[in-house]
Amino acid sequence: MNNNNKSFLDLSKKEISEVVESFGELPYRSVQLEDWIYKKYVERWRDMNNLPQKLVSRLDSSFKLHPLTEISSSGQSNDPAQKFLFQTSKKNKIESVLMYQKNRTTICVSSQSGCAVDCKFCATAFMGFKENLSPGEIVDQFLHLSKKSKSRVTNVVFMGMGEPFLNYKNVSKAAEIMNKKINIGARRITISTAGIVSKIYKMADDKLPYKLAISLNAPNDEIRKKIMPLTINNPIKELIKSAEYYYSKLKRFVTFEYVLLENINDSEACAFELMDLLKDIPCKLNLIPYNEIGGKFSRPKSKSIDAFINALKNAPFTVTVRWSKGTRIDAGCGQLAVKN
Ligand code: SAH
Repeated sequence: MNNNNKSFLDLSKKEISEVVESFGELPYRSVQLEDWIYKKYVERWRDMNNLPQKLVSRLDSSFKLHPLTEISSSGQSNDPAQKFLFQTSKKNKIESVLMYQKNRTTICVSSQSGCAVDCKFCATAFMGFKENLSPGEIVDQFLHLSKKSKSRVTNVVFMGMGEPFLNYKNVSKAAEIMNKKINIGARRITISTAGIVSKIYKMADDKLPYKLAISLNAPNDEIRKKIMPLTINNPIKELIKSAEYYYSKLKRFVTFEYVLLENINDSEACAFELMDLLKDIPCKLNLIPYNEIGGKFSRPKSKSIDAFINALKNAPFTVTVRWSKGTRIDAGCGQLAVKN
C-alpha cells in the first residue's frame, strides 16, 4: 500500500479496519489507534506504546499521522488568545486560534486555506482561495491546539479562514469526528457561514446536530452587497427564509453575527431595521465591533456602539457583544490571513 502522502486522520472507520487487517493485526488495534490519536493526542507512531513494534513500523512507513506542520505561534500560554500557523500537505498556510474564557476553552478552526467569498472587510479575502482542507486537516487543528491548551478544549467554532459551507462535506465529516470520537458536544460546535442559502437548507435537511451562525452584517441588501458580494446570489430575504426553515426543522436558535463597521452599518436606523428584520425569527444576535486590518474600514467609536446596542434594547431576541480576544496578535475575527 503506498499511502505516503495520505494522512491517517483522513481514513474512515472502515478504512482503518482494512488497514489493520491488511497488516495482519486483530480488529481491536483500531480501537487502540483511535484512542491514541483522539484521546491521548500522541504526535508520533512510536509513542503508541501498547502496539507491537511491527505494526508501528508499518504504519510509520505507510502513513503520515498528522497532515499539518506547525510553523509558528503568537501569544503566550497565559494570554487570553494564542494563534497558530500551520502548513497543509499541499503547502498552503492556515491559522487556528485558541481562546480562554471563564469556564470554556474554545478553538477557532479554518475550513479552507484562503477564501473565495471576498467579504470586503475580512483579511482572509486578500489571500484569495487556495484549497479546501481535508477532514483530517481540520481535525488536526483541534489535536495540535488541544496539546498546547492549558485546559480541556470545550468548544469549537468554524470561524477561522474560509467559508465552511463551500467545503460542506469535509466540514461535516470533521465536525462528526470532533463530536463522536473526541466527545465535544454537538451544541458546542458552531459552524459560521457568510450566508450560502442552499447549504443552510442542506444543513437543516441533513439534520446536522451543530449550531449555526450566519454572518449577516447588514440590515438590507443595499448595504450588504457593498461589503459582501455573495449577497447578489444570496439575498437577505432568502437568507432569512432559510434560517426560518432551519429553525422549523431543527428547533435550534440561529445566531446572527453582525460586524459593526463605522459609517457603513452602525447607525441607529440600521439597528431598528435589523430589529424589524429579525423580530419573528427565534434567534440570537452577536455584535462584533470591527477588528481593524489596515484597510478602509474602521471600528465605530464606543459612543456609536453603545447607541446601536441601546437601540436594540426592546428587541425580542438576545443581543450579545463579542469583543475579540486576540486582536493584539491579529487573531481576532476576520484578522486571519497569511502573506506569501
Ligand atoms: N466565512 C465564515 C466564517 C469566517 S468569519 C463567515 O463568514 O461566517 C467569522 C466571523 O468574523 C464572521 O461573522 C465575519 O463577518 C467576522 N469578521 C470578518 N472580518 C472581521 C473583522 N475584521 N472584524 C471583526 N469581525 C470580522
